Amino acid sequence: MSAIHGIDGLDDWELVVGLEVHCELATATKLFCGCPNQFGDDPNTNVCPVCLGLPGSLPVLNHQAVELAMRIGRALNCTVHPSVFARKNYFYPDMPKDYQVSQYDQPINADGWLDLPDGSRIGITRAHLEEDTGKNTHAGGSGRIHGADYSLIDYNRAGVPLVEIVSEPDVRSPEQARTYVAELRTILLAIGASDAKMEEGSMRVDANVSVRPHGQAAFGTRCEIKNLNSLRSLVRAIEYEARRQVDLLGTGERIHQETRHWDEEAGRTRAGRSKEEAEDYRYFQEPDLVPVAPGADWLARVEAALPVLPAARRETLAGAAGLAATHPGVVMAVDRGLDDLARGAIAAGADPVRVLTHVEHNLAVEGAETLGAAALAELVGMETGGALTATQAKTVLADMVATGRGPAEIAAERGFEAMDTGALEAIVDEAIAANASEWADYVAASAAGDDKRLKKLTGFFTGKIMQASKGQADGRAVNELLTRKRDGAA
Ligand SMILES: [Zn+2]
Repeated sequence: MSAIHGIDGLDDWELVVGLEVHCELATATKLFCGCPNQFGDDPNTNVCPVCLGLPGSLPVLNHQAVELAMRIGRALNCTVHPSVFARKNYFYPDMPKDYQVSQYDQPINADGWLDLPDGSRIGITRAHLEEDTGKNTHAGGSGRIHGADYSLIDYNRAGVPLVEIVSEPDVRSPEQARTYVAELRTILLAIGASDAKMEEGSMRVDANVSVRPHGQAAFGTRCEIKNLNSLRSLVRAIEYEARRQVDLLGTGERIHQETRHWDEEAGRTRAGRSKEEAEDYRYFQEPDLVPVAPGADWLARVEAALPVLPAARRETLAGAAGLAATHPGVVMAVDRGLDDLARGAIAAGADPVRVLTHVEHNLAVEGAETLGAAALAELVGMETGGALTATQAKTVLADMVATGRGPAEIAAERGFEAMDTGALEAIVDEAIAANASEWADYVAASAAGDDKRLKKLTGFFTGKIMQASKGQADGRAVNELLTRKRDGAA
């Protein structure tokens, strides 16, 4: 039996997660009024009768918000539909009208998907437009409303345009949830729809989590975890919640469908209100707004203006490099926006894996735009040709970015020459002689197939050799020599 992927000790159970991601749109103004859509201003300065819900005020729909929502929809392979706004009624002080204008049974985007770097595909149920709420701050006590001395309300956020992206319950591990949100964030940034800052709340994640025995088709009862404002919290909360549910079911108890809050400090979820069903919100069509029906020409313009998205960029780079699109170097190069540089260097004849290693580990994104693909290819050529060690190449690369000069010039100036094989072998032999018991251990670990121990001891010897060679030794050559000597000794 396999355990829940990525969580130890949960044998026989399968995790099922659906994610709801709220992202604030990068518009200049709010969804239904002309107030600035701006984070961090003094409280209650970006407000007007419309976003304060004063009687007699009427909403006017923001054109740019509709356009950004369509952009999100098409980037997520959704169909863009004529849509209708609806009132979602609930009583809460951060909602001045006591209802939120959202979309219910006729959302603007539906039935799409998102392809993840790991090769999996997550269905997108819908991505609808709605307005954000204001923000409560509870002073005194623990920061929660219970035990607070008083509460403050800031309506600057009330009426800020949001798109809520609802996934199918296709996510099967905490890591996959993290990958999904990270990929979504990259896309939102790439298409300019949102600044997607989880730390400022412009991207917020709720996770619907349930578990079921392996092989069971029906879903278990789910709980919705709120307050997930970092990728780390997302992963930890799902892990915690899966374990909590399995423990309850294991003792014959039932899961209650409810909203739960993630407490980052305590590392646990806590029960909130019991989960509302749709009927509790008494949805009805918003009478102050007409249906939204973007014309085909507008939609065509939106589609034509979409940039090439990360999944397609990974495919292109992978094709050029002769690697899988799931290769970590390929994923990271696109993630860091350095895929054009990598492709250019590979096209100029450089070894793809070395290029991607530099792009993944040795290049800061800032400054990398000054680096030419031809210069990177030249550096990698010197490295694969044996003129530079990996460590030296890394140093030269940093200099290239800082100064804009070519690799040959920098290497000559620094006096870099790859260490002579004979000299390196002498250093390796000395390290083995000086650490005889570790060496015996290393040979034994290899014979026993103890990879963990072998890795640790390889690190030990590599460190000693690097130290003795003052960093001049080439890591790959060291590894080859160690392996050769170990196999000779066994
Ligand atoms: Zn306003």
